[in-house]
Amino acid sequence: MVKSRFKQNYLSDLNAINPLRRRRKDNIMVRVGVHVSIAKSIDKAVDRALEKGCDTFQIFTRNPRGWKLKELTAIDAKRFTEKVEHSGLFPPVDHMPYLPNLAAPTDDVAVDTHVHRISNRLGLVSTKSPYQTEFALRKTLPKRYWIVFNNLLVMHGKTICTPISPKCSICPITEYCKRIGVTRYR
Ligand code: SF4
Repeated sequence: MVKSRFKQNYLSDLNAINPLRRRRKDNIMVRVGVHVSIAKSIDKAVDRALEKGCDTFQIFTRNPRGWKLKELTAIDAKRFTEKVEHSGLFPPVDHMPYLPNLAAPTDDVAVDTHVHRISNRLGLVSTKSPYQTEFALRKTLPKRYWIVFNNLLVMHGKTICTPISPKCSICPITEYCKRIGVTRYR
């Protein structure tokens, strides 16, 4: 469910900038661009691409590493679209976030930094990266928990099992946790 909501939101971002695609016809010329940041506001990406002398550019319209999303506002989308229209930059490319695995035949365990950190602390996996954690969890975690696992651990990671000094004294799952790698806690 989270994934389908994410997909819907992502598609609404694409639709927000889509008029540019419909109104212009691309030509054969090779266009050169780079990935630029949308820090502070998405339209700033256009300024950054122009500063770098690009013909086109690529952005993430939102955080590419987590399922929790901040919606683009209609004003943000309008500002961005208008700026691109006047910039001569074309086409703007929206880089898909890292999490969806289009090659997967089924839903995946969504692993971000919270899921990676807590799974290792609990001792469920012993991995060095979220990517490795995803594969390790696929082997050990029953499929029916794949979606809810992410939701629970992200919330737990933000409120109790924080990156530095987790609040183990109030953690409801202390008895199940091996606290691997935890040197300081409250
Ligand atoms: S006991 Fe501590 S380290 Fe383990 S999950 Fe709870 S807060 Fe995190």
